[in-house]
Formats: sequence, structure tokens, C-alpha cells
Amino acid sequence: MGTIKLYKGKDRRIRAGHLWIFEGEIDEVREAAPGDIVDVVNHQGSFLGKAMVSGSETLKARIMARKDVPIDEAFFARALEGCLEYRRRVAPDATCYRLVNSEGDLLPGLTVDVYEDVFVLQATTYGMDIRKRMLAELVAKLLGTGKAYERDDMPVRRYEKLEPVKGFLMGEFDTRIRIRENGAVMDIDVSEGQKTGYYLDQRENRSAAAGLSAGLHVLDAFCYNGSFGVQAGIKGAASVHFMDLSEPAIEKARENARLNGIEGISRFETVNAFDELNKLAKEGARYDMVMLDPPPFTRNKEAVEGAIRGYKEINLRGIKLTRPGGYLVTSSCSQHIGMELFKEIILTAAADAGKYLQLVEARSQAKDHTRLLSMPETEYLKFLIFRVA
Ligand code: SAH
Repeated sequence: MGTIKLYKGKDRRIRAGHLWIFEGEIDEVREAAPGDIVDVVNHQGSFLGKAMVSGSETLKARIMARKDVPIDEAFFARALEGCLEYRRRVAPDATCYRLVNSEGDLLPGLTVDVYEDVFVLQATTYGMDIRKRMLAELVAKLLGTGKAYERDDMPVRRYEKLEPVKGFLMGEFDTRIRIRENGAVMDIDVSEGQKTGYYLDQRENRSAAAGLSAGLHVLDAFCYNGSFGVQAGIKGAASVHFMDLSEPAIEKARENARLNGIEGISRFETVNAFDELNKLAKEGARYDMVMLDPPPFTRNKEAVEGAIRGYKEINLRGIKLTRPGGYLVTSSCSQHIGMELFKEIILTAAADAGKYLQLVEARSQAKDHTRLLSMPETEYLKFLIFRVA
């Protein structure tokens, strides 16, 4: 068994429950090839946890357990059972959900999304990548399905020196899947959509927004495949205006609106929402509910200032477009913009627009996108519903 020995004082973060061990914290490494399981010890040699060695030199290893247990197939089987038990409890009716959320589930580097009888696996670390066949077999057994797809085409894999790959892991099937969520039916494609084909992290938030939408004229401004707008539509919205910069996304939204029988109240536009919201506001257009779910404006700390401006701009335009007594439904998935900062940004936008905002709900990612208290990095989604007064 290999060992990673930390410098004096560098055990503090790990003891507090953080899972990442950085190169600069390490005094000595013995027998630790990428993917290996090693003991992590403090400067005096006392045991801190079991870790999986990375393919990256900077983020050298990730803790898998605090106890001195073997990290073998039985360990993963137990961990996966725990993941499923939790999802059945917090999302008993969901047929599509995130079964494994990497660090959030103490399984760093492994993500598994379930869409009806198919699951999609992502391995973002070297150690999970070399174990992915075994992990897929375990998940298949647990779920009682033989349909698995691998979506390992995301750029983060390069940090672990892993090539982008995607394709069938088990079975061969139509990658276009008809999924159900909150009473809506959506067609997704796990082989090519954003994320693993769908934004599962907003499931509970869609339900919260749709629950307020009866009789309202709704704008879904970064709609992707239309999930927010469609769910508002089936909950009785008077109209839904779908907008996205991407033509394939708008095509998906159109298809999903049709599937749910709301095409008659829907409008679709392939446009840049920044420009279009401005234009609409100037023309005097107003909506009863404006939904904003832009892509992350920053993926690193350095670009936070620009992201703040982006969020302020888009929310200012959104507020201006909301009729008094209407709702602003706004999201941020930028890791480096915390909830308090996000609220402050919205507040400055509201001040510029000369409006008061009543906070209806402050939410985060769905409960199956587990958050580890000791790792703030595991919480990324901010979701706010305001009533504009
Ligand atoms: N609300 C969606 C997810 C939105 S993801 C859901 O829950 O499924 C962000 C979307 O914004 C993407 O579909 C992307 O194509 C779109 N987008 C990015 N920049 C845009 C812009 N300037 N104007 C409009 N849409 C944009």
C-alpha cells in the first residue's frame, strides 16, 4: 500500500472534511501511481484517510474514506447502494435523477445520471476512469438495467490526462430517450445534449417556478430544451415565449412543447437574450414571469468581475420586462458567485430599475445533486424567485 505524507499543519483541511490533497501539501509520496489507493498520513504518520491518486500532478489525490477500509468492489457496491437509498428517499417519484454526484457523494470523479432505464456515467478522474467497467456493472445490477452510456467528452478530463470519449458502455440502444419530469414529457439525447443530455439539477426548481405560473405570460429566456417553460405551460401558463441562442436548442424546445400539447400557447426565437431582452423592454413588452438561466459566465476566480456585470445586466433587463406583481425566476450556476453575492447583484439591478423585490424562494441544486458541507465547491447552483413590486 502506497502512502502520501502531508506536511505539518496540512492535515487540517482534510480533518475538517475536505477531500482534495494538493501537491504543495505533500511532504513524501511512496508507491502512488495514478489510480492507486493510498494511505494518507499526517507529518507524524498517523492515519487520515484512504485516497485515490489522481492523474494530475497538482491535485494529487482525493480522499475516499476516513476509515482504514479497503477501497475495493465491495466498497463501491455499498457506496452505490447508499446513493440509491438516499435518492429514493428525497426524490421518490423521480424516474430521472443523479444517482452519484462525485465529491458530494464521497465518490470523487464519478457521476451517474439516470434517465428512465438508461444511465449515463462520467469519470473525471484517472482512478474512476480505469474502474469504470466495474462501476458500470455495479450500477447496472443495482438499477436492474443493461443500458449504460459514457459521456466522457468534457474538457476537465484533460487535467487527469484522459482523452475525451463517448459511447455505449453496456448494451446498444437509441440514445434519444423520452423522459418524464414533474408531469412533463421531454425528449432528450444522452449522446449529444448539454451535460448528460438534460439539466437534472433544476428539477425541484422547475417545480417551484411552474407552481406559480398558472394564468401567467411567461418568458423562458435561456430555455435550452424548454424544460422550465414546458413545465410552466402544463401548469396553466397563459403563454410561453422560449428563447435561446442555439438553433438546435430551440428545435428541442419546440419538439418538447409539442409533446406536451402546449405549442398553441408557445413562441420560439433563436436570439441572443441580452440583445432581445433589451429590445423587448424598449418596445414596452411585459411578462408576468421572466425566467433567466444563463450559462456560467465564469469558470474561474479571475473572471468574477465580468460575471458580476453579466448577471447584473441580464437581471436588470429581466426586471424591466416583468410587470408589477410579476415574478423574476433567476439562476446562477457559476461556481465562484456565492448565494450572498448573487443576491447583492440582483439587488443592485433592482435598484437601477427602481423596483422592490420580494424574495419568494431561495434554492440551490436539487437534493440528488448532493452538497458536502465541508466542500463548498460542491454547491454551485443558486436559484431565486422574486415577486417584483
Ligand atoms: N434552463 C435550461 C438550461 C439553460 S443552459 C434547462 O433547465 O434545461 C443555458 C442555455 O443558454 C443554453 O441552452 C445556451 O444555448 C443558452 N445561451 C447561451 N448564451 C445565450 C445568449 N446570449 N442568449 C440566449 N441563450 C443563450
